[in-house]
Amino acid sequence: MNFEHHFETLSIHAGQEPDHATGAVITPIYQTSTYAQEDVGKHKGYEYSRTGNPTRAALETCLAELEGYGSSLPTYGLAFASGMAAIDTLMRLITPGDHVLAGNDVYGGTYRLFERVLRPYGLTFSYVDTSDLNAVARELRPNTRLIWLETPTNPLMKITDIAGVAEIAKAHSNHPWVAVDNTFASPALQRPLILGADYVIHSTTKYIAGHSDVVGGALVTTDFKAYEQLKFLQNAVGAVPGPMDCFLTLRGIKTLSLRMEKHSQNALCVAQFLERHPKIFQVLYPGLPNDSGYPVAQKQMRLTGKGPAFGGMISFIHCDGLEEARKMVARTKIFTLAESLGGVESLIEHPAVMTHASVAGSPLEVPGGLIRLSVGIEDVNDLLQDLENALSGNN
Ligand code: PLP
Repeated sequence: MNFEHHFETLSIHAGQEPDHATGAVITPIYQTSTYAQEDVGKHKGYEYSRTGNPTRAALETCLAELEGYGSSLPTYGLAFASGMAAIDTLMRLITPGDHVLAGNDVYGGTYRLFERVLRPYGLTFSYVDTSDLNAVARELRPNTRLIWLETPTNPLMKITDIAGVAEIAKAHSNHPWVAVDNTFASPALQRPLILGADYVIHSTTKYIAGHSDVVGGALVTTDFKAYEQLKFLQNAVGAVPGPMDCFLTLRGIKTLSLRMEKHSQNALCVAQFLERHPKIFQVLYPGLPNDSGYPVAQKQMRLTGKGPAFGGMISFIHCDGLEEARKMVARTKIFTLAESLGGVESLIEHPAVMTHASVAGSPLEVPGGLIRLSVGIEDVNDLLQDLENALSGNN
């Protein structure tokens, strides 16, 4: 589909022409592992479903078009069995002896992959606050091959100026690639490739699929050669999603913009409520004008045609520390105590003992009183009441 179509239109149609065989309007779940060949090597483009599958191909095209929306850049997408599988596949482009400079507040699973799986293979990693561009420039080494960003970060909600980092990377002698984990924003709010990044990765488990019913990952790039290498790796390593998972993800994408708008509206109300609450020490949400990430987020995170929007993730620090934070997350009734994020339903969690237990004792350790919310698209008044009850111990 051509890039002049609007984002919402692409979300519904990109990669999803009516089925050629039957006219089915919705891309079928091609639940097959293999494909009949007319003669040896004569087939319709598909041989074996690890290598390629039509439902997956539709998802890959759709993701690529969304991440490229608003520019004439060519974009190429690949879908994976999970976000971690996508990250792992990208990291196979890095060779022993190379250095990776990563944000110092990345998802705990990313840190675990870097430190406990990849470091023993001879890759080196260091961590810096990437919201500080001077620090990024200072920490680059002659052998830095990749700069790894999350923005907003999980769980401290820090914002990095993607275009600023891309400029620093281009000016550096080794021209390191810039990869952005775009899971928290989704392409409805932020498109890193247009801002100069080389790779975007997603845990599609989150906002992209949007309904907490499927695990998946994605990689999108503007570099065709890199895409070919990554596609080779996708097939060679084999961490591919099944057709049912691709179908569910495609169905979720159709409402991505609507959901992100509502998530952002609800989260802003919740953040403002928490900011006024006497039991809250600090609210971390880039949509609050006094948040340190606000100036960059305001220009970098925008709902197409509608202006700034900051997504549904909020973290906050409870005044009474770890024990009270633990009690509070178990008291909400609408916010479900659970890991993960980005679904239509609201979730609450305690990063220090749940999602980020793998960074305990490391320089990336998160504060004990920190609570993370994934604000859903329920009626916001019910959400505010639920939080008030849990904070005051009335539940
Ligand atoms: N990136 C971020 C920011 C995440 O929050 C997560 C999971 O929570 C991942 C990557 C990993 O994705 P998955 O759980 O789909 O493997």
